[in-house]
Formats: sequence, structure tokens, C-alpha cells
Amino acid sequence: MNKIGFIGLGIMGSPMAVNLIKAKYDLTVYDVFKEKVDPLLKMGASGAASPKEVAAKSEVVITMLPSNEVVREALAGAEGVFSGAKPGTIIIDMSSSSPTLIKELHAQAVEKGLCMLDAPVSGGEPKAIDGSLAIMVGGAIEDFERIKEILQAMGSTVTYIDSIGSGNVVKLANQIIVALNIAAVSEAISFTSKAGIDPEVVYQAIRGGLAGSTVMDAKLPMMYNRNFNPGARMMVHIKDLRNALEMAHEISASLPLSSQVLEYMYSLKAEGKENIDHGGLVQYYEKISHVVVQKKKG
Ligand code: NAD
Repeated sequence: MNKIGFIGLGIMGSPMAVNLIKAKYDLTVYDVFKEKVDPLLKMGASGAASPKEVAAKSEVVITMLPSNEVVREALAGAEGVFSGAKPGTIIIDMSSSSPTLIKELHAQAVEKGLCMLDAPVSGGEPKAIDGSLAIMVGGAIEDFERIKEILQAMGSTVTYIDSIGSGNVVKLANQIIVALNIAAVSEAISFTSKAGIDPEVVYQAIRGGLAGSTVMDAKLPMMYNRNFNPGARMMVHIKDLRNALEMAHEISASLPLSSQVLEYMYSLKAEGKENIDHGGLVQYYEKISHVVVQKKKG
């Protein structure tokens, strides 16, 4: 399985596609924006006019797209992957998608003689660049075994979870933990800032203790350096928490803290901040405590 199609060349998809080229796979790429495609063509990938055309040229098709609606359109739309793929093609949705949507698309794929896995990732842009993503996979284990090596070119931990959609259930758990962790860091650092203490000193004092976390290491320096350039967009995390709540309600589970943090994110979206980094959640706490989290000069 050497011919791979890759659809969605954004913050995550672009470096993941680069790693597949480096691993010597024969890649066909597609994105709605030509400027996202051009750098990959220069590295040796081929282009295509639609997801349908990508599928016609590939044995395996990977999608890395921003929302449920876009994933549905790219796979099941009139110019989508399902209409161009040959029977036996393996489709891997690596986006963070709703498990309900994945099951629905999987049923359509199977009807057309196609195979489908969900394989969302964790680790953000830095790990997408160095090929050390954590990848969690749902679907038929035989299909997983056939494409495992492809995933290993993009990730250092590739874990088979269970049946189709289960990769995304685990990814939603990941996103709940990340969102609540960002909220906890934001709440604590706006409190210490209001008390007049330099946030960088707070970070250095507590990062090695029990409160320290990968989220704290990645996001707290961004907060006090006022860097809200997106590694992960607020809007993308809103989508994840909505998917988590939708599924929780379907299975009668309750996510009280997630629903609260989702509302804080929506409050920032209402201010037009949906495309800042999700670490920008601190701005909600700054607003309610009338404080700015900023490193002291000197
Ligand atoms: P992004 O918005 O940077 O990239 C999405 C890409 O899809 C863009 O290049 C866009 O032009 C393209 N696109 C949009 N509509 C399209 C269509 N109809 N056909 C083809 N291409 C289309 O998003 P991202 O941050 O790369 O996230 C992608 C997925 O990965 C999301 O599901 C997200 O939840 C997940 N994810 C993101 C991160 C992160 O830190 N950014 C981490 C883990 C998982």
C-alpha cells in the first residue's frame, strides 16, 4: 500500500503529509486552498482537482479536516472520496470527528465495498512536525494491521482501541482533559496575576510539582508572552467539546465541567476570537477578574 491520498493540509495535515513524503510514500494531496497544496507539490507530491480524484489515484486515503460538515462533504459529497474510490480502498479519517458521524460514514463506505478506520491524533503542531503524534485507532483490526506502518510514519504511539468510532471516543476524552487543564491553568494564573506576582515566576515555581502538566508547559508561557497564534484554534476545540457533549447525552453520561468551559469558549467566540489559540481561554478569566496575565519586564 504505497499510494496514499491526503486531504486537508492545515496546521496538522501539512506536516503529517510531509512526513509521509519523507517516508517515501507516493502521495496525492488536496486542499481547498491552492497555497496549502503548492509546497507539497514542490516536495514531490501529485495534485488532484477534488477528493474524488484523490481517491481514484490512491489505495489509502487520509482526511485531516476542520469540522464534521467538511469531513462529511469530503467523503460522501458529490465530488467526495466515496464516489472515486476503488473497492478495497482504506479510508482513514484522522480528523477529530464525532463518533456518531464516523459510524454513519463507515456504514456508507462498507456499502460501497470500501474499508474505513478512524485514527484521530494528539500532540498538536510540534508533534505533527517531528512525527511523534499519539494516534488512537478504531475499526476492523485486519484493516488496522494493513496500514499500521503508514500511521507509524506520523506518530510514535499508535494504539488500536476497538471498533469503528472508538478512536474518537478516546480522542474526546483527551480533549476534555486538555480543555479543563487549560481552564485550570487560566484560573490559577489570573488569580496570581491579580495578586501581583509575575506569571513566569509562578510557572517556574510549580511546573515541577503535582500541578505541572504538558498543557501547562505548552500553554502557560504562551499566555504570559501574549502569544495567541493558533497551534490549535479555539473553534476546533469548541467542535470537540460539542462532539463530547452530544455523545455524552446520547449515552446518558454527564460532563458538567466540559459544558461550563464550552460556554467560556463561546463567550470568546462572541468577541470574534474563534481563531486564536485555545490557550486564549485565559482571556475569559482576565475579563471576569479585570486583570492581564503578562510577564513582568526586566
Ligand atoms: P486547520 O483549520 O489548520 O486545517 C484544516 C485544513 O482543511 C485547511 O488547510 C483547510 O483549507 C482545509 N479544508 C477545509 N475545507 C476543506 C475541504 N472541503 N476540502 C479539502 N480541504 C479543506 O485545522 P487543523 O488544526 O489542522 O485541524 C485538523 C483536524 O485535526 C481537526 O479535526 C482538529 O480537531 C484535529 N487536531 C488538531 C490539533 C491541533 O493542535 N491543531 C491537534 C490534534 C487534532
